[in-house]
Amino acid sequence: MDGPNLVRRGAAAVLAVAVCGGLSTLGPSARQVELAAAQRNGPSPPETPAPPPAPPPPDCARAKCVALTFDDGPAASTSELLDILAARRVKATFFVIGKNVAEHPDLVRRERAAGHEIADHSYTHANLGRASKKKIRSELTRTQDAIRRASGVTPTMLRPPYGSTSKRLAEVTREMGLAQVLWTVDPQDWDSRDTQDVERRVLEAAKPGYIVLMHDIHRTTVRAVPKIIDRLAAQGYEFVTVSELFGGRLTPGKEYVQRNSGEPQGLP
Ligand SMILES: [Zn+2]
Repeated sequence: MDGPNLVRRGAAAVLAVAVCGGLSTLGPSARQVELAAAQRNGPSPPETPAPPPAPPPPDCARAKCVALTFDDGPAASTSELLDILAARRVKATFFVIGKNVAEHPDLVRRERAAGHEIADHSYTHANLGRASKKKIRSELTRTQDAIRRASGVTPTMLRPPYGSTSKRLAEVTREMGLAQVLWTVDPQDWDSRDTQDVERRVLEAAKPGYIVLMHDIHRTTVRAVPKIIDRLAAQGYEFVTVSELFGGRLTPGKEYVQRNSGEPQGLP
């Protein structure tokens, strides 16, 4: 879990918020199911379907974008979250732990098929900020391999467990093509385990361009997601993946905590 105790970063970094996929983008799963059904009935069996083409994401320089992110999975409760996101046509970003990917590859495939973004959160939830380069490379390489085996995707983002980073980690992530993604909103859901607390904390802290950190390994958090999405959508928010929040331009090795961080985005 991403406890706040290990690393106290600057206020901006501590406050990271994750954004979920936008209202604009869902729909792959239903269409995909129909397509798969049609293909099953047709004369030639299909290849494994790629995610369906998504509508273009919103322009987050103008739209009220927020990125919902979920760490530490996949776990049994991830399945319930995927149902919630699909019903609302919202895309999210999953920072997965390699050993959990190896245990639940089906859930990672489901995340991928629904159009969510999948990213690296180390293999054993290691404190990478205190690790040697050798240990960092081992943690990240094993996770990248597990995700690739499960879903065909090679992630381009890492969320260091506990938000713990270092110059060494910046160097290795730059070499490996991974941007470091932190967060702006942290409801401390790993600690409170209270659905209403999680709802309230996220709704009070969310702002355009923020990245919201939650954990899909806790059912108390998963059950907060419907109200969070519905309330933010009513306020005009659009839910995007982390890559979409930054217009697809993240630089390996750099740290990102909200839209106006990391590399200049050309905003005022
Ligand atoms: Zn974590």
